[in-house]
Amino acid sequence: MTTTLLTGIGLLATQDDELGELTDAALLITGDRVGWLGPATDAPAADRRLDLAGRCVLPGFVDSHAHLVFAGDRAAEFAARMTGQPYTAGGIRSTVTATRAAGDELLRANLARLAAELHAAGVTTFECKSGYGLDVDTELRSVRLAAEQTSEVTFLGAHVVPAGVDRSDYLDQVRGPMLAACAPHARWVDVFCEAGAFDVAESRAVLQAGIAAGLQPRLHANQLTASGGVQLAVELGAASADHCTHLAPSDIDALAGSSTVATLLPLVEFSTRSPYPDARALLDAGATVALATDCNPGSGFSTSMPLAIALAVREMRMSPAEAVRAATVGGARALRRDDIGRLAVGQRADLVVLDAPSYLHLAYRPGVPLIQQTWIGGVPV
Ligand SMILES: [Zn+2]
Repeated sequence: MTTTLLTGIGLLATQDDELGELTDAALLITGDRVGWLGPATDAPAADRRLDLAGRCVLPGFVDSHAHLVFAGDRAAEFAARMTGQPYTAGGIRSTVTATRAAGDELLRANLARLAAELHAAGVTTFECKSGYGLDVDTELRSVRLAAEQTSEVTFLGAHVVPAGVDRSDYLDQVRGPMLAACAPHARWVDVFCEAGAFDVAESRAVLQAGIAAGLQPRLHANQLTASGGVQLAVELGAASADHCTHLAPSDIDALAGSSTVATLLPLVEFSTRSPYPDARALLDAGATVALATDCNPGSGFSTSMPLAIALAVREMRMSPAEAVRAATVGGARALRRDDIGRLAVGQRADLVVLDAPSYLHLAYRPGVPLIQQTWIGGVPV
């Protein structure tokens, strides 16, 4: 197996509880794994060496929430929102019309372009949801196309009720033929549990059908209102409750006492000019917090995990270390993955090299492209 030694690492922020942060470090990549890491002076021989000249190395970011299979553009809706119109769940339907009309090649090209953007932003694993098809054929096309790019595919047939379809008929379709078609291509099932989308009872029914079909649950919860979604996510043992913008103390307690990760999506609050979630309360209560992009054409069309980190620090009072942890190991927990999100021997060699001496610069230099290199499975992309 080919070995590559990354040496001259000024700061190696492993996100591993035992290893912590190492200075003047080196990291050996053996095949697609981390083979060794430690002080540069102790580094083993390797087939090739790359001197990083004091730069900072982190695990690759794990983006556990993204909607990347779609066509069309909602820049005008964004502009309207910035001049005073509120965000509602209904704008999703305009993307559905464009996505249904698009061929596979267009959807595949859009998805590949966004995946390349994520990689350039330091993301080495991303989740991808369906949810802009909302009929059996287009939802199936969506999960198939997503599965070409990632193993973390989520069936989100219950995104909204499509225009012109009876609500209870649609829920029957989601739990019946749509789920049956999509489940073989997906790992996760998700619902937009929100006013204007699906209530708690409807969300529970869809998630339970997904679980029965072999999928694992995750949930859009408490984004625009205290919807009861967080409690449902915890009740069902969901991997993640996503958004968590409107939380009661009982929601925070429920998350802290569970294995459900609170996944925060500050690029959405930024793009909808909404109040940010109370990350401090979640962290102080002991909940596991993840940061993700929620890249989607309506409520937040950004692939920038570094900007999400900067917002988490500036607007949500997370420390830079907490924000980076949430974007790496937090995201891995939200996907129930133990092989990514931290750097230790045997972990996947998914990492980013910052053109900076420390991860502090991700928040200290907002908007600056600091991702110098992204490595996935030991290969630079
Ligand atoms: Zn979402």
